[in-house]
Amino acid sequence: MSFEAIVVGGGMMGAAIGFGLAREGLRTALLDEGDRAFRAARGNFGRIVVSGKGVGFPDYTRWSRLSTDAWPGLAAELRDLTGIDTGFRREGGIYLCFGEAELEERARTLALCREEAGDLGFDFEVLDHARLAALLPGIGPTMPGGTYCPQDGEVNPLLFLRALHAGLRALGGATLSGARASALRADGGGFALTAGGETVRADRVVVAAGHGTSALARQLGLDIPTRPERGQLLVTERTAPFLPLPTDRIRQTREGTVMIGRVAEDAGFDDGTTTARMAGLARDAVRAFPALARLRVVRAWGCLRVLTPDGLPVYTESARHPGAYAATCHSAVTLGAAHARLIARWIATGARPPAIARMHEGRFAPAKAA
Ligand SMILES: Cc1cc2nc3c(=O)[nH]c(=O)nc-3n(C[C@H](O)[C@H](O)[C@H](O)COP(=O)(O)OP(=O)(O)OC[C@H]3O[C@@H](n4cnc5c(N)ncnc54)[C@H](O)[C@@H]3O)c2cc1C
Repeated sequence: MSFEAIVVGGGMMGAAIGFGLAREGLRTALLDEGDRAFRAARGNFGRIVVSGKGVGFPDYTRWSRLSTDAWPGLAAELRDLTGIDTGFRREGGIYLCFGEAELEERARTLALCREEAGDLGFDFEVLDHARLAALLPGIGPTMPGGTYCPQDGEVNPLLFLRALHAGLRALGGATLSGARASALRADGGGFALTAGGETVRADRVVVAAGHGTSALARQLGLDIPTRPERGQLLVTERTAPFLPLPTDRIRQTREGTVMIGRVAEDAGFDDGTTTARMAGLARDAVRAFPALARLRVVRAWGCLRVLTPDGLPVYTESARHPGAYAATCHSAVTLGAAHARLIARWIATGARPPAIARMHEGRFAPAKAA
């Protein structure tokens, strides 16, 4: 089999880039290992967030903002092309603070982040309890406040993923599942990789395989350190709409369930759940919205984020093997539109978006040498 572009990894990042490459007119194949792999795309919270991204690294704020601004167009395009409504909504989002000190710190951080990012920053409002209660009538009486950002949003991440795969196919691309890429090498003017006993060839290859990225990229001379960070999530039974805006840790889905999350812990590659963390999530959720105490939890899961040492994305092309790319990031739902549009255009045409100029793995080299 041979293609103009192969993307390894059919998760949130690879699917967006693959869809974008097909949109750029390249005959594209998207390869995915399948259910045995760690798949962050299947376990995430579905928030699209620019507020507070990129403190001390304004290009990341700008990149997140570019993506959130491109999201409405992407959601509409996917709906027209595939008939799948991803549930994308950008009516703003709220960050809940559980103490006065946290609220002050959050306000300071957002102000700094917005100032550093300049024109491509975000807007925000600091909310005291009364203002928070006006936006979220079910809020608990002991919650001191929070922040509101009108550029934040949400999406159903599973429908988004499905739409990207379907969109790629609608544009003539191929999706190959159960295809674990093992050997990957330069071959003539292009690349060859072995997946599920078959050899697949292409002019360009993009490694976007989540926790599989480091090992595959190394075969092309790219050293991209990543580590897992576990999140845990609870989902309640369905209830009548009570939460008009998504918050950083509690969000009501269109279907009526309530997702409760926001754990970030080092558990190696253990993607299970723990009673202590789940109890903590439930306790905070009930303090934030006392009515949640009446609902039953129907599902819980652990899932591993893919983190670089500084938590910022890597988008890189191999110097040794031009045409070989690798990409990884912490928030591929938020950045989905940037991946489908700007990263795909860079790979197809060479037009590298200025915001990602410093988002390559070279920034880790001095630390490693030290
Ligand atoms: C609990 C939790 C909550 C989150 N909430 C949010 C959120 O609200 N907003 C947000 O923007 N982000 C969120 N994220 C992060 C988001 O899910 C990830 O950024 C995203 O899934 C990463 O995309 P990826 O494609 O790099 O990795 P994945 O989505 O993990 O996909 C990697 C894919 O590569 C495949 N693969 C691996 N190795 C190989 C191989 N050798 N050959 C072929 N295929 C291979 C796997 O099968 C997998 O499908 C959250 C993550 C977690 C864990």
